[in-house]
Amino acid sequence: MTVLLDTDKAAAKQAFEVNKLSKRLHRQVGQAISDFNMIEAGDKVMVCVSGGKDSYALLDVLLGLRRRAPVAFDIVAVNLDQKQPGFPAHVLPEYLAGRGVPFHIANQDTYSIVKRLVPEGKTMCSLCSRLRRGVLYRVAGELGATKVALGHHRDDMLQTLLMNMFFGSRMKGMPPKLVSDDGKHVVIRPLAYVAESDLERWAEHRQFPIIPCTLCGNQENLQRVQVRQMLRDWERRFPGRIDNMFSAMGNIVPSHLMDRNLYPFATLKTTGVPNPNGDRAFDADEDCGPRDAAAIKIDWEP
Ligand code: SF4
Repeated sequence: MTVLLDTDKAAAKQAFEVNKLSKRLHRQVGQAISDFNMIEAGDKVMVCVSGGKDSYALLDVLLGLRRRAPVAFDIVAVNLDQKQPGFPAHVLPEYLAGRGVPFHIANQDTYSIVKRLVPEGKTMCSLCSRLRRGVLYRVAGELGATKVALGHHRDDMLQTLLMNMFFGSRMKGMPPKLVSDDGKHVVIRPLAYVAESDLERWAEHRQFPIIPCTLCGNQENLQRVQVRQMLRDWERRFPGRIDNMFSAMGNIVPSHLMDRNLYPFATLKTTGVPNPNGDRAFDADEDCGPRDAAAIKIDWEP
């Protein structure tokens, strides 16, 4: 009897958690769509589905949101079969047909091109994704899609920002909405506010038929692996920092950075007028710098 009760309790707790997760995912995706005006009435949204957890979740949540969206829009799922050895070509068509989603499978052997052009041992992702992008844009044009939706999430966007800072000396992230480099397509990232850990849990709950992303045999970019690990360690030690860093990407103060193209430092003049909104955020903590470094203990703990 006791065992049964415990089981019931565990099941109820799990159902409660899943319900909470579902609400959070739908709310965050809806919020990103609204904040960046990602989807408008009459849009045909081409959802790029790779077989990974992120793009399955993207499609799943968009289908859920469409039922109660304030505007009518169409969805078409597109997968690019890159002809990697062992790619289970039947998995996505079966899944998409089962969900009743209009879909298109594009067949293009980018795998052989990449293998031929990239020297052994070098990372193939850059050329591979460039070729993939080209095919997807072509398909978007052929299908008459007005938006191209990708499954990048909050953690991808933050990792990209840090990688560009660490290895590219640029403050450049991964935008939630952009115009494609050929100038013809609007690309959107409706999972922009969603944490990867939530997508992992959602994929497990929904039992998406995941296609492994290692079929190409490529080693993941070491720099990205390091940055992801660093962020995970950081979040474990200081919970909430990732959210803060992510929020910072939408809260930029050009006058307190160093880009002379964004702020006219050269022509800066006094106004003689106090500015009540002038930045004093950290003034109280600032001092003249370390006098006795050994005596100063900076406690970064919250
Ligand atoms: S992991 Fe493989 S399939 Fe994915 S972008 Fe890199 S080379 Fe292409």
